[in-house]
Amino acid sequence: MDILVINSGSSSIKYQLLDMSDERVLCSGTVERIGEAMGVLNHKIAPGAPGEDKITLTEPIPSHEAGMHLVIGLITDAEHGVVKSKADITAIGHRVVQGGDLFDQSCLVDDTVVAGLEKLIPLAPVHNPGHLAGIRVARELFPGTPQVAVFDTVFHQTMPPRAYMYALPYELYEELKVRRYGFHGTSHGYVTKEAAKFLGKPVEETNLITLHLGNGSSMCAVKGGHSVDTTMGITPLEGLIMGTRSGDVDPAVYPLLAQARGMSIQQIDDMVNKQSGFKGICGMNDMRDIHDAVAAGDARAKLALDMFGYRNRKYVGSYVAVLGRVDALVFTAGIGENDPVARVLSCRGMEHLGIKLDHERNQATERGARDIAAPDSAVRVLVIPTNEELEIARQTAGLLRDN
Ligand code: AMP
Repeated sequence: MDILVINSGSSSIKYQLLDMSDERVLCSGTVERIGEAMGVLNHKIAPGAPGEDKITLTEPIPSHEAGMHLVIGLITDAEHGVVKSKADITAIGHRVVQGGDLFDQSCLVDDTVVAGLEKLIPLAPVHNPGHLAGIRVARELFPGTPQVAVFDTVFHQTMPPRAYMYALPYELYEELKVRRYGFHGTSHGYVTKEAAKFLGKPVEETNLITLHLGNGSSMCAVKGGHSVDTTMGITPLEGLIMGTRSGDVDPAVYPLLAQARGMSIQQIDDMVNKQSGFKGICGMNDMRDIHDAVAAGDARAKLALDMFGYRNRKYVGSYVAVLGRVDALVFTAGIGENDPVARVLSCRGMEHLGIKLDHERNQATERGARDIAAPDSAVRVLVIPTNEELEIARQTAGLLRDN
């Protein structure tokens, strides 16, 4: 069973084709700058394997449809193709950021699902229109091939109302569905299952705090394998300090800025999403640059790193309180998987909560799932590489089997 995973944005399409008999990635790539004067397609055959091969196309790509035609051309190309024809693709799995409270599980895409995604655009104005463009094109180009929508929000649909409600007038929830949804659910869900396997425990008996620390960052309290709280809110802005997103801020700042600086809602929205976080504090949004700047004595970079660690520790502490018993902390995504300093900063001073790192294991550069806790740590500390594409492909395959 070959499954094509698509993550379609407003001007880009990321894709991966997996052979689910052994979960091997046959090819992957990105189509970028759709609709701009010049588009670019980067295609990798057998990525990460010894036979890896790369193809780059630079040409105008006026629409998602044109982009998908190029992708299908490369996938089925007589010389470089990995399948004979598009009929060899069993199903397509689509990443969808916002499923609101309309979707509490992955589902086969039909007209009703498309209508639901359209209805949810106000809750995900940046993401859902791009996903819809990808879904529409894929349905046209692959008529009869099952298409599955996999939502970032679904994993968090198990949160209780006390965790997902905002203390705002109740009618805002009733009329506009204003509540916490949480994001990165495909990642939190994937590492939850992998962590349970690693610990040798049934997932339904596993309590975790999962830290997805990347360009966007979020934390999740997982009780018995289910999300019971998470840091992101109605959008992926709330919670932790991120590359360019502020995370938690007193919302009273926004009317203050409107008054003091005459900023519009759109300008404030742009500022908190694109000009804040690490970038707002020290001008850099890539963690590697921040470490270099700290080493060179940059005080703002050091402040950004201090704030990041402190915010993470505050949430770890609060999720220990939420969960009671914690089996493991799980670090994942670009920073979580690769940055030992970020991991130290996120767990420092928590020995009294049973969280104790082994500094040598933490420094080791090995890949793959690993335990970096000290032998006498009551709570295990795991590093588990996330794989959202594989999770989407697994859910797509699972749904096909169930239907
Ligand atoms: P992601 O959004 O998961 O791709 O993660 C992107 C973030 O991971 C960026 O802030 C990168 O600086 C960070 N990152 C990637 N590799 C490393 C590394 N080796 N050390 C520290 N940070 C890293």
